[in-house]
Amino acid sequence: MEGRPRILIIEDEPAIADTLLYALRTEGFDPEWCATGRAGLAALAAKPFALVVLDVGLPDGSGFEVCKRIRTTSAVPVIFLTARNSELDRVLGLEIGGDDYLVKPFSPRELTARVKAVLRRSATAPTSGAAAVPPPPVAPGLMVDEERCTVTFHGCPLELTRYEFRLLRVLAAKPGRVFSREQLMAAAWEDPGASLDRTVDAHIKLVRAKLRAVAPEADPIVTHRGLGYSWRAGG
Ligand code: CA
Repeated sequence: MEGRPRILIIEDEPAIADTLLYALRTEGFDPEWCATGRAGLAALAAKPFALVVLDVGLPDGSGFEVCKRIRTTSAVPVIFLTARNSELDRVLGLEIGGDDYLVKPFSPRELTARVKAVLRRSATAPTSGAAAVPPPPVAPGLMVDEERCTVTFHGCPLELTRYEFRLLRVLAAKPGRVFSREQLMAAAWEDPGASLDRTVDAHIKLVRAKLRAVAPEADPIVTHRGLGYSWRAGG
């Protein structure tokens, strides 16, 4: 799967998702499926994707809301799947931040063609689609390389494990926002149910030690007693 563009499918109908998974795999992509907006956002927080295929009608809310949430942190291309013309009107009429749309029913071939076209567009003109999207908030001194899963803090590369990288990435993407242990667990672990709250604490402790080794005075991760953790706003 190395080098294959990762595509996130957020779609609650398993039959449609199966068709899309198969079609995208056949075309050389590495697709992943989430059945709810919530699960999709957690997947996006955990690792980078090249593109998102987003159903408008999801069981836990509208795909528009999910897209808005995505756009607060990421310029990843989004293709909407809509079931009705009324939804299509919104996709076309509002500045939701989607890059393309398909109206159901559509053929798998149509979808893969759109995916390729959007990826081509975003590769050749990186600023055109992302111009209206604010860049993700960047914590001072921190550089996160999504592609290579590496982090540089005040110019020093940090040796992080996979979970440490994911935790730091989630926190640093939204300085000032407090994340509960459950939220961090859901964002960073494949199987959150199998872990304990103190697993998060243990990994946070390790990340802190690595940050401190580079910049002892910075201490950017804040503990909120009884609530969780945040990345220090403005620091
Ligand atoms: Ca649906």
